[in-house]
Amino acid sequence: MGERAEIASPFFKVHDGTAADTTVIDGRTLLNYSTYNYLGLNGDRRVGAAAKAAIDQFGTSASASRLVSGERPPHRALETALAGLHGVDDALVFVSGHATNVTTIGSLLGPRDLILHDRLIHNSILVGAQLSGATRLSFAHNDWRAAEALLAEHRMRHEKVLVCVEGLYSMDGDVCPLDKFVEVKRRHKALLMVDEAHSIGVLGATGRGVGEHCGVGGPDVDIWMGTLSKTLASCGGYIAGAAALIELLRYNAPGFVYSVGMAPPVAAAALESLRIMLAEPERVSALQRNGQRFLEKSRARNLNTGLSEGYAVTPVVTGGSMLAVKLSNALFDQGISVQPIIYPAVEERSARLRFFLSSAHQADQLDRTVNAVADTLETLSEA
Ligand code: PMP
Repeated sequence: MGERAEIASPFFKVHDGTAADTTVIDGRTLLNYSTYNYLGLNGDRRVGAAAKAAIDQFGTSASASRLVSGERPPHRALETALAGLHGVDDALVFVSGHATNVTTIGSLLGPRDLILHDRLIHNSILVGAQLSGATRLSFAHNDWRAAEALLAEHRMRHEKVLVCVEGLYSMDGDVCPLDKFVEVKRRHKALLMVDEAHSIGVLGATGRGVGEHCGVGGPDVDIWMGTLSKTLASCGGYIAGAAALIELLRYNAPGFVYSVGMAPPVAAAALESLRIMLAEPERVSALQRNGQRFLEKSRARNLNTGLSEGYAVTPVVTGGSMLAVKLSNALFDQGISVQPIIYPAVEERSARLRFFLSSAHQADQLDRTVNAVADTLETLSEA
């Protein structure tokens, strides 16, 4: 479509260095809202040093599955730290965040089970649900009453029931009422899984995620899932929970058993990022301040920020894919890097630009950006 309309593709741009509040593309420095470097830890000297030390000691690869060929100290150190972050027994890391959801759901659930998920849940949970062969039903976004109604109707026909939600929703930037979902899952003897990809480092006074934000304790959720690719400046995913759950996955989840162990420098980078996140909560507060400012300024300029609650993600909904792409391209020309999210990632009428905020952004950068978006949008049309 873009080629026919002679509109340049905004995808697969090459960044010349580390992207934080700014990024360099084709030798130009742009304000950056297109990466999930929420606490500015990708590029932090200490995180880089931890990864380099792990390379020197253990090499660049785990070179085989941990089950068959053994592990390296950064694996268990990271897992222990992640379990501590969520206040649960244990954790297990996987080489991809997406694969974490697919293999965990795919191996824990089966055809006699039921998976209930938020209508806006991430693709990786949908793919895991398909793989499991369980019955799959969705409920209206963040609507715990709708989830409860589905449970009342369907619970008795299934063995296990898994309710899947996200902490901070990645396309819309709103927060799950986790305390309500905990009550619902208890009433119906269901399991609750929370994807914390976008909430670690973002929600809660110390960045411990939606549990801290909603006052929910670690053991109140059965399966905590998170990724290492956002705040933790690395790559991979994890599951945290009861010792029995982690033991089951360690021996049964194909995406762990039959996949190479996480590369030691990747684990070491995530571990150091986690240490810094907890030691420097001012990064979390700065991100939260930036998120609120960006939302308030956007609303003041009448931008459609959808459901955003002003944390690390705020969309500006344009309502059509072509308009989103044109707006992204026009902002790129003005020195602002922000990606359009278009159909089929979201419905056509809710195409958008998605702004990822960072603790490293300065107030004047945010204000300049909001004004550029609002002024530019006034000059563009969908056609
Ligand atoms: N869950 C959610 C909510 C996500 O947004 C993403 C990807 N951004 C993933 C899982 C997959 O994580 P990763 O990109 O680290 O594979």
